[in-house]
Order: sequence, then structure tokens, then C-alpha cells
Amino acid sequence: MSGGGTPDLELALLRRSLGEISGKVEHCHSCERALLIGERVYEYENGELRCALCRVERAGQSAPWHTVHTAAHGHSLRLLDRRPARRAA
Ligand SMILES: [Zn+2]
Repeated sequence: MSGGGTPDLELALLRRSLGEISGKVEHCHSCERALLIGERVYEYENGELRCALCRVERAGQSAPWHTVHTAAHGHSLRLLDRRPARRAA
């Protein structure tokens, strides 16, 4: 037993979930542009993220993609009704 498992994969998964939790903005590795909400981002095996425009540079390589979601994911505000309760006269 090496006891090591697959640390690279685990790290990659951890990093990804942390990124989602902290709401960090994702950037394209090629053009370094901040990716927009709802944009399709391609993830390559070496961890590179590329936007749909830069993907053509690696057209021969297939990659899984996901949609960029809001940076405020999980942190959206709820409007509270803070008006004082009306008192009966
Ligand atoms: Zn790009």
C-alpha cells in the first residue's frame, strides 16, 4: 500500500470546489480575460481553462466544459423587510 491514492486528482477536485465556494472569478489561461457569467469554459487535463474563443488553438483536443456561474454564488442577498411593525392606534 502506498497510501497515496491519487493526490493530483484530489487536489484538482479540492481546488475546484474551493474556487466555487469562494466565488473566485475564473480566467482564461490564454487571453487572461475574466470569464463572464454564463460563458462556456473548457477545462484541459493540465488544469488550463480556456474560453470558447481561445479553444480553437486546441481544436484537436477535446475537453470537458462547464458554464461560468455568478461570483456571488451562494452569497446572494435576501431583502429583508425591516419596516417596524405597524402599531394599532
Ligand atoms: Zn481566452
